[in-house]
Amino acid sequence: MKIINPATEEIITELKEDSKESLSKKMTLLKQGQKKWHSIPLAERVHILQKFSELLKKNLEELAGILTSEVGKPLQQARNEVNGACARIKWLTENAERYLSDEVMSNQPDMQEKIVYEPLGVVCNISAWNYPFLVGTNVFVPALLAGNAVMYKPSEFSSLTGLEIEKLIKEAGVPDDVFQVAIGAGATGQTLLELPFDGYYFTGSYKTGQYIYEKVAPKMVPCQLELGGKDPLYIADDIADIKSVAAATADGAFYNNGQSCCSVERIYVHENIFYQYIEEFVKEVKTYMLGLPNEEGVYISALTREPQLHIVDAQVKDAIAKGAKVLTGGKRAQRKGYYYEPTVLINVNHNMSVMREESFGPLIGIMKVKDDKEAAELMNDTEYGLTAGVYSSAQHRAEKVLAQINAGTGYWNCCDRVSAALPWSGRKHSGIGATLSHAGLRAFTHPKAYHLKG
Ligand code: NDP
Repeated sequence: MKIINPATEEIITELKEDSKESLSKKMTLLKQGQKKWHSIPLAERVHILQKFSELLKKNLEELAGILTSEVGKPLQQARNEVNGACARIKWLTENAERYLSDEVMSNQPDMQEKIVYEPLGVVCNISAWNYPFLVGTNVFVPALLAGNAVMYKPSEFSSLTGLEIEKLIKEAGVPDDVFQVAIGAGATGQTLLELPFDGYYFTGSYKTGQYIYEKVAPKMVPCQLELGGKDPLYIADDIADIKSVAAATADGAFYNNGQSCCSVERIYVHENIFYQYIEEFVKEVKTYMLGLPNEEGVYISALTREPQLHIVDAQVKDAIAKGAKVLTGGKRAQRKGYYYEPTVLINVNHNMSVMREESFGPLIGIMKVKDDKEAAELMNDTEYGLTAGVYSSAQHRAEKVLAQINAGTGYWNCCDRVSAALPWSGRKHSGIGATLSHAGLRAFTHPKAYHLKG
């Protein structure tokens, strides 16, 4: 399998893909190791994963460099990602004891009722490339804390990072028969679906997620899906500072070249401030420097996958054909590598794919609305339900809109943000189940109910 640098189109290295036989052997190894791992005290597992976080910090520069070389994100954003993973591990390890220990629910003289959180066994984590440290951490860290063994399949586009994770997690003290990495493309994921895992945790596109859900169903084991989004923002007409809101929301749309599941994907602006807002927004986007991801000051760099350039371009062309106006960008950058100019469209509507299908690139459509009601209706007009945000000076006004939106996360005066303390969950085509928070710690367990009559 060739690993390509998307910023230069050069081959970085070649890796040997796992075969059906090697995956089967890894699975057998994990089955053997899991029980012993669960038998060690939780405090020890916490300590090992904290050590893993320390190793991530210690190797920050090297890890960020490897990540940037294979996914193309600006180097500073790669550093931010590794630091972000450490922050998540901190919360998960500090709260593991609280949410994974046995819970006595009632203690009567003749009857004690308690819940014991038992691990599932060996779980399979099929992961995405856009934030391999973050989306990986969401799954394998709580899974290991809860006493499971893990087969981690990074995307083929973040395989080098997957191998670094494996190296450091083992250096931290997770045994070889408790954590294994599956190297390969979609076919490797397909083989994993055929093996008898005790749970499947997938991060990726709706299309693959739906396929996996169907494929795993007959096994009758837990299957969680963290999928894509078409995340809307509404800018109300009472915002205090249009310039700073425009800058913050442009960052929400273009950070990581727009390749975040919770990137702002469409913006609705109250008609009273529409023209001031887009003026400031475009001014901000024009300051973004496009270039090689390891160049100082670069904010827009290469997309990770070449086919995504065509998806973004097709959305732009579809929108223009239906009457949209390009305020900046609108085409592939004329240079080697998978670059697309940051693109802002207005005069957009919901007949255009840019307002309905995930762009997953540096592209945003901005639409004028007459009031909060119209904004809420349009925000809900989607198959997805990951996040939604409202910028307004009034919290009650924002919360009134957010309460109407069928999405797992609501933002007031912020966007494109994840917290380890809160559940990360999608609705509709954005997924099933939750990671992070107490829900995400317990997502890798079977709660067993004990009725203990003394
Ligand atoms: P894909 O669905 O293409 O791939 C995800 C993973 O599934 C990869 O490891 C991939 O392998 C693997 N895979 C592909 N085909 C199969 C198959 N038939 N059976 C089993 N596994 C398979 O998604 P992307 O990697 O392109 O990720 C981008 C998507 O992920 C976006 O839609 C984004 O919004 C979403 N996402 C959602 C997040 C959330 O928290 N809700 C977070 C991050 C991303 P390979 O890549 O090697 O082909």
